[in-house]
Amino acid sequence: MDVRLLEATDDPERVICTAARNDYSPTFVGDQTFEETMAEIEGDDIEDKKQTLIGHLLDHGHFGPFEHPHATFAVEGMSRSCMAQLTRHRHVSFDVQSMRYVAFDDVDPEEVREGAMVVTPPSASDPNWVGRNQSTGSVDEETVAERERIFRESVTRSVEEYQRLLDLGMPPEDARFVLPIGTEVNVVMTMNARMLMHVADMRAAADSQWEIRDMTERVLDLAEEWCPITFQHYEEHMKNRKNRLAP
Ligand SMILES: Cc1cc2nc3c(=O)[nH]c(=O)nc-3n(C[C@H](O)[C@H](O)[C@H](O)COP(=O)(O)OP(=O)(O)OC[C@H]3O[C@@H](n4cnc5c(N)ncnc54)[C@H](O)[C@@H]3O)c2cc1C
Repeated sequence: MDVRLLEATDDPERVICTAARNDYSPTFVGDQTFEETMAEIEGDDIEDKKQTLIGHLLDHGHFGPFEHPHATFAVEGMSRSCMAQLTRHRHVSFDVQSMRYVAFDDVDPEEVREGAMVVTPPSASDPNWVGRNQSTGSVDEETVAERERIFRESVTRSVEEYQRLLDLGMPPEDARFVLPIGTEVNVVMTMNARMLMHVADMRAAADSQWEIRDMTERVLDLAEEWCPITFQHYEEHMKNRKNRLAP
């Protein structure tokens, strides 16, 4: 999986601070310089002041201002299973690669056997991998080799049969019904900084599945470069907070 930041609000923390100061300012923030808007905030310089205000907002649960800056990410090669989990988040905007207009007719089934086109879960090859709802613990090498064999044969056969159906003239949107839920898909998604924290609360948590957790950690790394004060504070003080609404 690859995750990239495509576009994002310029100077997001200036936007957050201006929006927050608007709530308590008798004068119109549109007529002020940013320095004037931040004049009453504690700090030696403007970066210090942004740090003070953003920390205060996050610590006090004043999350509204974090809805103004937004970021667009492109994710390559997540499974359709992961995509189904991700797209449950209703305040994120998505574009999902179509299996109607993109047919996997030229993929070599031998490459599928080697791991192309279908995401391979770590439990298919790691004997020590223990999933959240797994009834057994670690398994021996022989058992995991058998798991991997069945997994690879199954996904390869699915792709071969999908391609055979295409050859028989079946439309791609119908032939895809035989493809595995692990089939890779590319997604573009846009969300604001508040929503990004909410998605991270739920999807970077230990009870989330490994794939969406990995994707969310990569999104968080990019978010920290884009909006550093906010996402450093999130990482240090808010990640794994207990009041999230996970089931
Ligand atoms: C570990 C894990 C396991 C899961 N297992 C399952 C499962 O087995 N089956 C399943 O169906 N789902 C499952 N989910 C998905 C989960 O139930 C949520 O649907 C999903 O995470 C979206 O999050 P959200 O409910 O916070 O909504 P979001 O769409 O992310 O919305 C953010 C917030 O906005 C508010 N909101 C949005 N829409 C409404 C609304 N219509 N009414 C009121 N408030 C609203 C809520 O406060 C919500 O928390 C699982 C999620 C996780 C993390």
